[in-house]
Order: sequence, then C-alpha cells, then structure tokens
Amino acid sequence: MQPPMDLTGRTALVTGASRGIGRAIALSLAEVGSLAEVGSLAEAGSLAEAGAAVAVNYRERAVDALSVVADIQARGGRAVAVGTDVSDGAAVTAMVERVTSELGPVDVLVNNAGIAIIRGIDDLSEEEFDTAIAVNLKSAFLCTKAVLPYMRAQKWGRIVNMSSGAARGAGGVGLHYNASKAGMEGLTRGYAARLAKEGITVNAVAPSLIETDMVRSGVASSPARIPMGRFGTSDEVTQAVLMVMGNAYMTGQTIQLNGGMNFM
Ligand code: NAD
Repeated sequence: MQPPMDLTGRTALVTGASRGIGRAIALSLAEVGSLAEVGSLAEAGSLAEAGAAVAVNYRERAVDALSVVADIQARGGRAVAVGTDVSDGAAVTAMVERVTSELGPVDVLVNNAGIAIIRGIDDLSEEEFDTAIAVNLKSAFLCTKAVLPYMRAQKWGRIVNMSSGAARGAGGVGLHYNASKAGMEGLTRGYAARLAKEGITVNAVAPSLIETDMVRSGVASSPARIPMGRFGTSDEVTQAVLMVMGNAYMTGQTIQLNGGMNFM
C-alpha cells in the first residue's frame, strides 16, 4: 500500500504556531514524509528533508516563532516565521504572498490560531465577543480564501481547522468561545461540501484540555474532570491533524479527542 500522504515538496502554513498545539503541528509537518511515521512523532530526528516547508505564523513572541523555525532548519528543513494578525484580511493577504515567494504556494493550511478570553455572561463585552469571532473564526475564512486559488488550480489541498470540545459542550471559557468554535465546524462543512470535487479536503479537529499556555493560564487548573485523569498533549492533537490530512476520502468531519469527556 502506498503511504496515504507524502509532503515532500509541499508548503504548509500553520497559524498560531509559535507555541502550544500549533508549534507541535508545525514541527511534525516539517518532518513527516508519509503517515507511516505518524506513530513515532516522539522519535522524530533528521527527517525534515522528507517533510513540508513550513510557514510558522505568530502574532507576538517572535522569539518563540524563530525558535520553531530554527528547530526545523536544524533538522534540514525549510521554514519561515511570519508575524501576522490572522484576523486582519489585508495582513493575511500579505502573509500568503510572502509565504508563496519565500517557500512556495500553500498546499496545506492549518487554521490553529485562537484565543480564549475567560468571561461570564454578565462580564462579556461586545468588543470581546467580536474579537473572539474575528480571531477564532474569521481568521480561518481569511486564510482559506487567500490560499484557495492555488489549491483549486492544482486540484489538491489539505485544510484542517482547530475547533474545540466547546463547539458542542459547555467548555470553560465562555459563550463567545463556544460560538466561535461551533462556527469553525460550520465553516469546515461549508467549505468541504463545496470543494469535494476539487481534490481539497477540509476537516476539523476538536480537542479538549490539552496542556498548553491556554489551559495553564486558567481554562482548567486540574485534570480531575477528565476520565483519563490527565490533560492531552500537543503531539496527540498533531496525530489527529495528520490523520485527517492523510485520508483523501475524509472531508467535512470533526475529529474529537478529549480523554473520554464525551463521545459526541
Ligand atoms: P496557545 O495560547 O498556547 O497558542 C495560541 C497561538 O495562537 C499562539 O501562537 C498565539 O500567538 C496565536 N494567536 C492568537 N491570536 C492570534 C492572531 N490574532 N493572529 C495570529 N496568531 C494568533 O493555545 P493552544 O492551546 O496551543 O491552542 C491552539 C488552538 O487550539 C486554538 O485555536 C485553541 O482555541 C484550540 N484549542 C485548544 C485547547 C486546549 O486545551 N489547549 C482545547 C481546544 C481547542
């Protein structure tokens, strides 16, 4: 059987890749030549020559993004850090132009950037609601819009959107976050339906309680409510991202991983 996906010669753009889940995805896309290697992410060594060239998007903390780029380059891969607020349409257009000129046109897009401002019903302001929708949802539309012309022309593309268990469950952040992530899954299905004949798959991954800055900074302080008794890891989310990317017959789906918190 042929490997389901080979990223050699491909270019990937990962938003919010300076830390956390996005960082793990960026590092893995640079290293994975075929899904045969997905099971051994932790053993990844000098495989970068087999992976994608990776654009590491970030909004702040340039030092962190440059360190992801340095890690990829140290293993023989190609990468560039692009500091862009992905909720800004003009900035996204410029970002994709820069990535195209420095690494090549984007074949693989991971819409991972997100924010989780914790607010209760009474405290949530209009501005905070708008920010959550712009950063967590509109950004995926803007980035997809910017990369689609090339994907459609070549009749191949892989898009993965980062949702959350909060798209369907209560979550611990607030209703603005619920709404943004539920919207992300609707956006995923909308694009998937319209691109199914064009060789482009669009799927979502919906984790719950992965140990990153987002969780450490207050969404949940204890893993006690998780049946498995621990937070998930960014590598476990990455495995789900690579799995949906590697399956050409899977589109419009949301893959959940949440330590057994729910089975929807
Ligand atoms: P994180 O806070 O560690 O990282 C978020 C990343 O997004 C950072 O690199 C940040 O700079 C970037 N970002 C934020 N706003 C941006 C903007 N406007 N433009 C560009 N980049 C921006 O969070 P994480 O836990 O790694 O989360 C990654 C994604 O996974 C998010 O979409 C989040 O909603 C989702 N998620 C996380 C969890 C979890 O438990 N950690 C659970 C469900 C979903």
